[in-house]
Amino acid sequence: MNFQQLSNLQYWASLFSGPWSLIINVIDILIVTWLLYHFSKAIAGTKIMILVRGVLVFILAQILANAIGLVTVSWLINQVITYGAIAAVVIFTPEIRTGLERLGRATELFATAPISVEEKMIQAFVKSVAYMSPRKIGALVAIQGSRTLQEYISTGIPLDADISGELLINIFIPNTPLHDGAVIVANHKIAVSCAYLPLTESTGISKEFGTRHRAAIGLSEVSDAFTFIVSEETGGISVTHNGVFKHDLSLDEFEAELRKVLLNEQPKTQSWYKKWIKGGKV
Ligand code: ATP
Ligand code: MG
Repeated sequence: MNFQQLSNLQYWASLFSGPWSLIINVIDILIVTWLLYHFSKAIAGTKIMILVRGVLVFILAQILANAIGLVTVSWLINQVITYGAIAAVVIFTPEIRTGLERLGRATELFATAPISVEEKMIQAFVKSVAYMSPRKIGALVAIQGSRTLQEYISTGIPLDADISGELLINIFIPNTPLHDGAVIVANHKIAVSCAYLPLTESTGISKEFGTRHRAAIGLSEVSDAFTFIVSEETGGISVTHNGVFKHDLSLDEFEAELRKVLLNEQPKTQSWYKKWIKGGKV
């Protein structure tokens, strides 16, 4: 299919030539819509989003150049799109690998593992926060999403350790060599401690939140990492993700946030369609 076909009425008529072709085409469109929706949700707020926007501008420019008949401009844009796609694969190799690994794990339908790696991670995080929060042990932990945190990992002290609640607690005990800065979790391991995260430039944040919180918010603005913080001053639990900062969470709320991000689990509320079917109150 090419863009010229879109202005061809016969092409549109052929889509609806019979009931069977209509059904197939509707299914086709629904699948593409679903894929685009999940793709845009996954990249929202990440740097890939900016790249995708750039690509869309190029594609629009190409359609426009084609429509007007600017043959050379259209050829030039075509070349940029072709080589740009190869460059994007090279530049985003880590993100693509993480994405494919996730897809691989998601399709392990018959996996026998009774408890998933993500579930173990959640239990370790909850255990450490349950210990640190009442004792006001300050902590800052960033969990890498689909976008690599390599530039921040390189500022820390390498650990490459298995994740456990006990180790996280130990790292953040004050006045120990590893407690300062952030722990970064990547590929189900504690990659580093003492990492430096970018501070947010936002001015709309209450003064009660200092640099630890500003670093977590800053990271969420430039990546899709999920970060949690235990305040040294109040013991308060906060999280940041995709530029959203939630503070003063209870331990249960914190666990729900973890589950939402790491397991894609929704909080246990009724889904809209169940409410709709039951005709209950929304
Ligand atoms: P708390 O409520 O725990 O006091 P806060 O938001 O008030 O947190 P500060 O009191 O300024 O923050 O916390 C300072 C600590 O935060 C530092 O000792 C360091 O461990 C950590 N921190 C500060 N800036 C960064 C940064 N850019 N990256 C990582 N960690 C940081
Ligand atoms: Mg402080």
